[in-house]
Amino acid sequence: MVWTTALRATDGLARDAGLDLDPVSGRIRVDAALRSAGHPDIYVAGDAAAARAPRAGALRMACATALPTGAHAAGAIIAESRGAEPEPLSFGFVVQCVSLGRHDGLIQPVRADDTPRERVLTGRPAARVKEQVVRSTVRFLKLAARRPAAIRLIPGVG
Ligand SMILES: Cc1cc2nc3c(=O)[nH]c(=O)nc-3n(C[C@H](O)[C@H](O)[C@H](O)COP(=O)(O)OP(=O)(O)OC[C@H]3O[C@@H](n4cnc5c(N)ncnc54)[C@H](O)[C@@H]3O)c2cc1C
Repeated sequence: MVWTTALRATDGLARDAGLDLDPVSGRIRVDAALRSAGHPDIYVAGDAAAARAPRAGALRMACATALPTGAHAAGAIIAESRGAEPEPLSFGFVVQCVSLGRHDGLIQPVRADDTPRERVLTGRPAARVKEQVVRSTVRFLKLAARRPAAIRLIPGVG
C-alpha cells in the first residue's frame, strides 16, 4: 500500500487568536508540556497541537495521539492549579491501524518513534481488530469520565 493522504489543521480560530502556527501543518506550536508557544496559559491537544515527545518525536494527527495529549493537557492544568510545574509529555507509539472499507484493514505494530515493525495483519482479521479498537476507544472514554486514573491505560502513555 502506498499512503498518499495527509491531514491539515483547520487553523482559522488559532490564527485569529494570534497563536504561533507551524506554517506547513497549520498546527499550534507547543512546548514539552503542551502550552502554546508564547501563550503558556493556553494548552493545546490533539490534531491542533504540533507536539513532540522524546520517545516518539513529532506526533502525527491521530486518535492515538489525541487521547494522550488531551489527558496530558488536563493533568497539566490540574497540576498548575495546585501550584506545581506541569510535566513534559511522555508518549511512544504502539501500533498503526488503518481501516480500508468494512472488510479490509492493516494493523502494524510500530516502534515508539512510529517506525514500522516487521509483523503485519491485513484483510478481514485486521478489519475486525480495528473495529475493536474503535469500540474500545468509546468504552475507554466512558470509563475515564468516571475513573480518571484509567488515563494511565492509554497505549503509549508514560
Ligand atoms: C476519515 C478519517 C479517518 C481516520 N482514521 C483514523 C484512524 O484509523 N486512527 C487514528 O488514530 N486516527 C484516525 N483519524 C484521525 C482522528 O480522527 C483525529 O486525529 C482525531 O479525531 C483528532 O482528535 P481531536 O480531538 O484533536 O480533533 P477532532 O476529533 O477533529 O475534534 C475537534 C472538534 O472541534 C470542533 N471545532 C472545530 N473548529 C471549531 C470552532 N471554531 N469552534 C468550536 N468547535 C470547533 C470540531 O467540530 C470537532 O468536533 C481519522 C480521521 C479521519 C478524518
